[in-house]
Amino acid sequence: MSNTNRPVVTRFAPSPTGFMHIGGVRTALYAYLYAKKNNGTFILRIEDTDKNREVDGSIAHIMESLSWLGLTWDFGPDKPGLFGSCLQSDRLDIYKKYAQQLVDKGLAYPDPYTSEQLEQFRKEATEEKRPFLFRKHRPDTYETWDGTKPLRFKVPEVKRYKWHDEVRGDLSAGEEMLDDIIIMKADGYPTYNFAHIIDDLEMGVTHVMRGEEFIASTPKFLSLYDALEIARPIFVTLPPIMGPDGKKKLSKRDGAKDLLEYKNEGYLPAAMNNMLALTGWNPGGNNEIFTMSELVEKFSLDRIQRSGGAFNEEKLLHMNKEHLKSLSGEEKISYFIDALPESTKTLPGYSTEQASKLAVVVFERAALKKEITQAAEVGEYDWAFSDPEYEKTLLQWKNDDSLQEALPRLENVHKLLEDADFSSTEAIKSAVWTYAEETGKGEVLWPLRVALSGRQQSPDPFTLAYILGREKTLVRIAHACDKISG
Ligand code: GLU
Repeated sequence: MSNTNRPVVTRFAPSPTGFMHIGGVRTALYAYLYAKKNNGTFILRIEDTDKNREVDGSIAHIMESLSWLGLTWDFGPDKPGLFGSCLQSDRLDIYKKYAQQLVDKGLAYPDPYTSEQLEQFRKEATEEKRPFLFRKHRPDTYETWDGTKPLRFKVPEVKRYKWHDEVRGDLSAGEEMLDDIIIMKADGYPTYNFAHIIDDLEMGVTHVMRGEEFIASTPKFLSLYDALEIARPIFVTLPPIMGPDGKKKLSKRDGAKDLLEYKNEGYLPAAMNNMLALTGWNPGGNNEIFTMSELVEKFSLDRIQRSGGAFNEEKLLHMNKEHLKSLSGEEKISYFIDALPESTKTLPGYSTEQASKLAVVVFERAALKKEITQAAEVGEYDWAFSDPEYEKTLLQWKNDDSLQEALPRLENVHKLLEDADFSSTEAIKSAVWTYAEETGKGEVLWPLRVALSGRQQSPDPFTLAYILGREKTLVRIAHACDKISG
C-alpha cells in the first residue's frame, strides 16, 4: 500500500505549549516547501489533546510565527477542510468513532486497573529489572467501554516491524516497543499516538515529516495502522538541529529562542527561511543564498541530511545582510525608519524625507535592524537631522600645522557647491573632485566631513552633502568657517 501517487499533502502539527522553537519552525518550513514544490496541500493542525500542557495564546502565536515566514496553510485553525476542524479538540467524535471500530473488532478494551494497581505493576517491573509492559497484565475479560475509563489498544501481534523512511532508509524495530497503549483517555481526549494517525488518514496526509524522537514509537504507530487496516503514510525523519559548533543539539544556552524574537531583532523572513532550509538540507553547489521561490523549486527529500544541521546565528546574520540588499527602495526605507529609536525621531530636524535619503546609504553596510538602532542610539545619524556640535579643532586635517589651513579650502568648496548639481552623490563629487585632487584629498575632504557631520567617522562627505541638500550643506560649511575665524 503506497501513498506515492496521491497529491502531496503535508502537515505541521504542533502542540500549543507556548514556544515556537527553531526545530518546530524548520519542520513547518520543510512540510510547506515540499507541498508547494508538488502543488500539494499544507495543513496546520493543532494537537491540543493535552489540556494540562496547553498555554494560553499559543495557537495565535503559532499562526503569527508561520504567517511571518509566509508559510501559508491551506487548512488550519482558521480554515477547516472537508475533513472538519484542524483543532484536535474539535474532533473528539471522530477519534471516538475509530476507537469504537477497534473495540468492535476486539482490538481495544477499557483499562480496568486503578492507578495504585498500575503503580504496583510498574514497581514490580523495576524491581525485576525488566521494562514495564501493560500487555503482560492484559485482563481476560473487560467491561463495555463507556468513555469513563482509558481505552487501551490490544496490540494484536508482537512482532518486528520494518518500514521505510525517506531520509533514514530501511528501519526496523520490534517487540520491546509494542504494547497495549492508551488510545483514548478517561477525559474523552485521544492520546497523540492515536489522534495523529486518525487525522493523517482523514486529512489525506501523504508525507509525515517530524523529528527523530518519533522513530522509536513508529512500531506502535504501525501496529495501529495495521489494526485499522489503513495505509501507512510516507515517513520523512528530519535531522536534529545542532548548535553553532554542529556537535551538540541546539540548546537555550546557544541562544535557542522563540522565532518571533528574531522577528523583533529585525531578521527578514526571507533570511530566516533561507537559514532554516539549509539547516538539514542543501541543494548542492556553493551558493547559499536562496529566495523562497528558489527554495520551493529546489527542495527535495533526497537531499535532506541524516545527521544534524547546525543553526548558526552568524550565518543567519550574513544571510540577512544579503537578503536586505534585495529589498525594494521603499522596503529599505520602512525597515530603516522602523529601526530608528525615539531619540532620533524626536530630533528637531527629523523628517521622513531626510530619513529616507539616509536609509539608502545606511543600507550598504547594515546587516540587522538592531545594528541600526544601536548606531542611532549613540548618535551616529544625528547629523542628518540636527546641526552637529563639535570642537573646532576637529576640523584640522592631521597633516596640517594649524587649523587656519582648513579655512580657504572650506571657502573654496562652498563656492564650488553654490551652483553645483545636487541631484546625486556623484554629481556633488564631480563638482569638488578636481579641486580636492589638486589640493590634497585629506586636506579638502576631512574638514568638509567634519563641517557636515561633526564626526570623525561618517559616510563620505559627498553622501553627507547629498543627504543634507544644498541649503544645509552650505550653511554648515559657512558655520565651520565662522568657527575657525571666530
Ligand atoms: N504534536 C506533535 C509534536 O508537537 C507532532 C508530532 C508529529 O508531527 O506527528 O511534537
